[in-house]
This record gives sequence, C-alpha cells and structure tokens, in this order.
Amino acid sequence: MNKCTHKDCKEIALSLSSYCWDHVDDREAYRKTLSEHIDSSGSIKGLYLRRLEFQSAQWQNIDAEEVDLAGADLSRADLTAANLKRANLTGANLHRANLASIDFEDTHLLRCDLSGARLWSACINNSNLAEANLQEADFLKASITGVKFWHVKLEKAKFLTKFSFTGKAPIDESGPLSASEAYRSLKQYFMVLGRYDDASWASFKEKQLERKDLFHRRRIAYIPSLLMAFLCGYGEKPYRVIASSVTIIFLYSFVYTALNILKVPLDYGSSTLRFWDYIYFSIVTFTTLGFGDLTPKLAPLFQMLTGSEAFVGAFMMGLFVFTLARKYAAR
Ligand SMILES: [Zn+2]
Repeated sequence: MNKCTHKDCKEIALSLSSYCWDHVDDREAYRKTLSEHIDSSGSIKGLYLRRLEFQSAQWQNIDAEEVDLAGADLSRADLTAANLKRANLTGANLHRANLASIDFEDTHLLRCDLSGARLWSACINNSNLAEANLQEADFLKASITGVKFWHVKLEKAKFLTKFSFTGKAPIDESGPLSASEAYRSLKQYFMVLGRYDDASWASFKEKQLERKDLFHRRRIAYIPSLLMAFLCGYGEKPYRVIASSVTIIFLYSFVYTALNILKVPLDYGSSTLRFWDYIYFSIVTFTTLGFGDLTPKLAPLFQMLTGSEAFVGAFMMGLFVFTLARKYAAR
C-alpha cells in the first residue's frame, strides 16, 4: 500500500492512483480508469477504494472480495449478484442500491447506510451490521445468519421475518447482552407489524440470551430463568406446559408407588394397588379434583407430598392459561 503523494497527506493512496480520494485531481477521470479496469477484469478484488464516490455504479456480478470501500458513496449503485466476501463497507453509503443476490460473508457493514436497499435473496453470513441503517430495506427471500445486529435501525424494513434468520445462531451470540438487545429490537419491529408469531420467536431468543448472560455472570436469577424456560419457554411455548405437567404427574406417581402411600379401599378386591391407581391418584391430586376414592395413609410426609402436588398443579394450570393468552391473544 502506497501513501498518497500529496504533500503532508498521511492517507493511503487509492488503488490505480497515487492519491487518496480527497486529493485525486480529476475524480471523473479516476472513475473512468476504474470502470475500464472492471470492464477488462470483472473484478475489484482486494482494491483499496476508501471514500470513493461512485453513485449509480453499474457493478453487476463483480468480484469485490476483500475490497476496502469504507466510507464510500455507492448510493443507487447496482451490485446485483456481486461477491463482497470479507469486504470492508464500514460507514459506506448504499442508500437505494440494488443488492439482489449479493454475497455478504464476513463483511464489515458497521454503520453502513442500507436504507431503501434491495436485498432480495441476499446472503448475509457472519457480517457485522452493528448500527447499520436498514430502514425501508427490502429483505425478500434474504438469508441472515451469525450477524452482529446491535443497534440497527429497522423502521419500515420490508419482508423481514423470523424465516429470514437461519442457522443455529442467526444473531452472533459471542456477546449475549448485545445479541439479546438485538432480539429485543427485532421483537419490537415484529410487534409494530402485528407479526406476533415472529415476535414470540424473537422474545424467546431474547430471554434465552439473557439467561446465558446470567449464567456467565454466575447470578442466582439464572435458576428461575432456567425453570421458566423448561416449564413454559418463557411464556411462548404452551406445549411445554403440557409436557412438563405430564412429566410431573408421572414423577409423583413413581414416588407414591415407591413409598406405598395409598390406603387400599375396603371394597377394592385385592390387597395391593396397581400402578395405574397411583397415576390416577396423581392426576386427581394435580388437578386439585380430590375425589377421595383413593386417599393417602395418614402420615405427615404423605400429606406434604400430596399437598405439594396440588400446589404445583394449580400453578401449572395458571401458567398454561397465561402462556396461551400470551401467545395467541392480541398483545
Ligand atoms: Zn491524500
């Protein structure tokens, strides 16, 4: 990399020039030189083009891997199907650019202006989108995974759904707090659009990362958080309440059987109870029905046990109603 030859300038010179963008004397001529280079090679791979101003550039299918376009102005440019892997677009202006089928992988898009950009079928992998402006950007069929998504502006972004975010960690989770914050802003974005199912997905992810952060900081609040995740998926997964209720009923049945806590009714016809009787007793206790056809032997431990199951059952039923209402009723 050569220094700009203008006196006292400490900037690095642009590729194909001996000056930085500020000191290129004929900018139109430079754009022409660059265009000729692109026409002959189809590539700007690895070039140093910081702060270049090239609005409405026609760079379809260009190979721009590792190009340095930090601070460049490419507003309204056409970069359809361009390869921008590992490129540096920090603070670049891509306002209303056509970025359909673009390949952003490990791309630096920090503070990048992507407002109104068309990102149809774009592939955004492990890129840094922190503080990027995505207002009115169009994400139709875009695929986003492993991105840093902190403090992005999302207002009026189009076709962004939970299905846009793919992979095990759609948002980079190396910093649980910033990822959690990112999911919170996604949740708010989905809520405004009335996309409650997507908001529920984002909310679950947000809580999951909050828990991860609590775990890292060894906070006691981790335990209730883990319990809420297990019992009801932070109020977003009603089927988890059913599954954990069934598990609790079975666990109590096993304990009752092991401790042989039930009295055999006089008219039972046998001197020992079947396992089914213990399950039945457990269900009746869990649901606080309490028929009284089967009763525990009178001992403080057995009374405590059955009492605790009734208490847990009432709690789980309340939790089920809460989770259903939260998931399906309008928020
Ligand atoms: Zn210079």
